Amino acid sequence: MIRYRGVAYYPEFWPEDRWDEDIRLMREAHINLVRIGEFAWTPMEPAEGRFDLGWLHRIIEKMGAAGIEVMLCTPTATPPAWLTKACPDTLLVTREGKRAVHGGRRHYCPTSATYRRHVERITERLASEFSRYPNVTSWQIDNELGPESGECYCESCASGFRGWLERRYGNLERLNAAWQTRFWSVVYTDWAEIDIRHCEAGYPSIDLDVRRFHSDSWVDFAAHQAGILRRLHPGSTVTTNMMGPVFRWIDYHDLAKVVDVACDDLYFDMATMSGDALAADVFRCLKPGKRFWVTETGSASLVTGKPPHADQLRAWAFSSAARGSDAHVIFRWRTCLAGQEQDLQGIIETSGKPRRRYAAVKRLFEELEDLVPALGSLPLPKADVALVHTYDSHWAWQSTRIGGQVKELEHLYAVHELLFDRNVLVDPVPTDRDLSPYKLVVLPSVCIVRPETVAALQAFVRAGGVVLATPQLASRDVNNNYVPRCAPDGLTDLFGLRVEGKAFLDDASEPDRAIWFPKGNMVLETAHARFEDGTACEARAYVEDLELVGAKALARFTDNLYEGCPAATVNEAGKGAAFYAASYLDADGLGSLLDLALQRAGIAPGPRTPKWVEVVRRGDVTFAVNHSREPCTVEIPGREAVVGEWKKGKARLGAYGVCAVRG
Ligand SMILES: [Zn+2]
Repeated sequence: MIRYRGVAYYPEFWPEDRWDEDIRLMREAHINLVRIGEFAWTPMEPAEGRFDLGWLHRIIEKMGAAGIEVMLCTPTATPPAWLTKACPDTLLVTREGKRAVHGGRRHYCPTSATYRRHVERITERLASEFSRYPNVTSWQIDNELGPESGECYCESCASGFRGWLERRYGNLERLNAAWQTRFWSVVYTDWAEIDIRHCEAGYPSIDLDVRRFHSDSWVDFAAHQAGILRRLHPGSTVTTNMMGPVFRWIDYHDLAKVVDVACDDLYFDMATMSGDALAADVFRCLKPGKRFWVTETGSASLVTGKPPHADQLRAWAFSSAARGSDAHVIFRWRTCLAGQEQDLQGIIETSGKPRRRYAAVKRLFEELEDLVPALGSLPLPKADVALVHTYDSHWAWQSTRIGGQVKELEHLYAVHELLFDRNVLVDPVPTDRDLSPYKLVVLPSVCIVRPETVAALQAFVRAGGVVLATPQLASRDVNNNYVPRCAPDGLTDLFGLRVEGKAFLDDASEPDRAIWFPKGNMVLETAHARFEDGTACEARAYVEDLELVGAKALARFTDNLYEGCPAATVNEAGKGAAFYAASYLDADGLGSLLDLALQRAGIAPGPRTPKWVEVVRRGDVTFAVNHSREPCTVEIPGREAVVGEWKKGKARLGAYGVCAVRG
């Protein structure tokens, strides 16, 4: 159960004579962790080499005296004006050649050697000076790394990209072969001809490498600081606050290797919970076997302006705790008077008064603290289902013209939501993870499957595992080019089918498209399919023409180009089975296929619950959380209630209610 109850605190923004009152209120609210220093480079170093760290010493000492641990943040997301003025080469340059200006955040270039030198100076200074405090126990690198102000295309990045390519391919012959540059005569004859600013436009293989390079640049930027912090403050927890459920721009599987704990800034959605549950599942699996931290979450809505019900805060905390979180850090202590996030509500008001949000947080944190003895040592929840997500495939989709049409990420969310609705816990994992702990592996539009994964999937199914794949599986090579064979490449025997053809279902909404593909000819707005049990569904965006070589059809298209052709299949292989969907089936269709795969894998769904009521088992405790206003009753077997109302196997959940049952 959650160990850290925290808050982001910006003491530099408030008069020092207010600090004691803030700390008193924090203590009363059972807060035991504060994040400090984020964005405070100018207060820390008002001019180059002139450090003013007295205020930071004083607040850290005060927190220590109050028994509050500190996560000290490096302030590198916001370089001071004196720095960017003296060294404009530290600022990022847009693809159009426009240099960023002072006043935003994360507007620096992550590959700039000048910026790295300044980053090293401030990080070394902070680590040397503050590692001696026993209550400084963790470090946050930067803040929400990534291209918030856009990716950088400066000279440093341009030459960095060429170096990255030279290391990857060795020579231009191999690069041209990998990118298949003969199309439109793109072929490169000199490394200097490769310009990151222009080369990838519309070329999927090049675009994928540009994305890989940008991601590697951010990971390297984080690794630089992590190295300094570990050297100067051994034993501390080094991390960075990431974002989820699925961050598009940095390969978080790589970034997770740089940090000690996976941290998510998880602003729970007011309307739907499955995306937030997916975020929790993703972050639980970034560092296998380790609990994750929620390093930022709101105590009010960011988007709708609607204040959450006080108990909604509690439901969110229990949901992430059930899924493996170990820290719940609210952003932020006091609503700021000014700045870009002026209207982002803190726990206490601009006036400094603790009101309703403070009372709700205090009540929640008191309960979480009380539950530590009973639930503090629960093991992580164990999932029977793996949901494969790789940045190779994700970026491949983003790099293609059809990516926007297929909406691969929405498809991943849809698969997760179907499993969330069935109260089946899922581990989102990359393909190099050991699959043997799972009974079912779902591959949603994983278009790039590396040879080692092909072998792992074959071994998994032969040993009795079940896989379920959706369209475009293994249709591209590692360079984002289609394979010159029938997909799924290397897996046709396992799935008992060959993808012999394909068609995109265009909505014909763009006039030029309608001219090229007149309606009634190749343009298919939506196809339909029917399962053997009569379940009818829509097939969206894309359909495949399957030739079955051993697989059995479970559903067939009922109209349009592929009328009568298989829309969903299963193939028995070894002791296991492989299911396949030949289109993006709607919730009815994909849900039917998922149910068949779950059944074949011997996975019983969790208790039936109304929409937005989740049940998660962690160790010997089952959590039930109601994210809706409608009260309900859920059947949960067990021995005794640890939280909430539970009697004779039935949990009663009020609006946003929570129940935890042992046994
Ligand atoms: Zn740059």
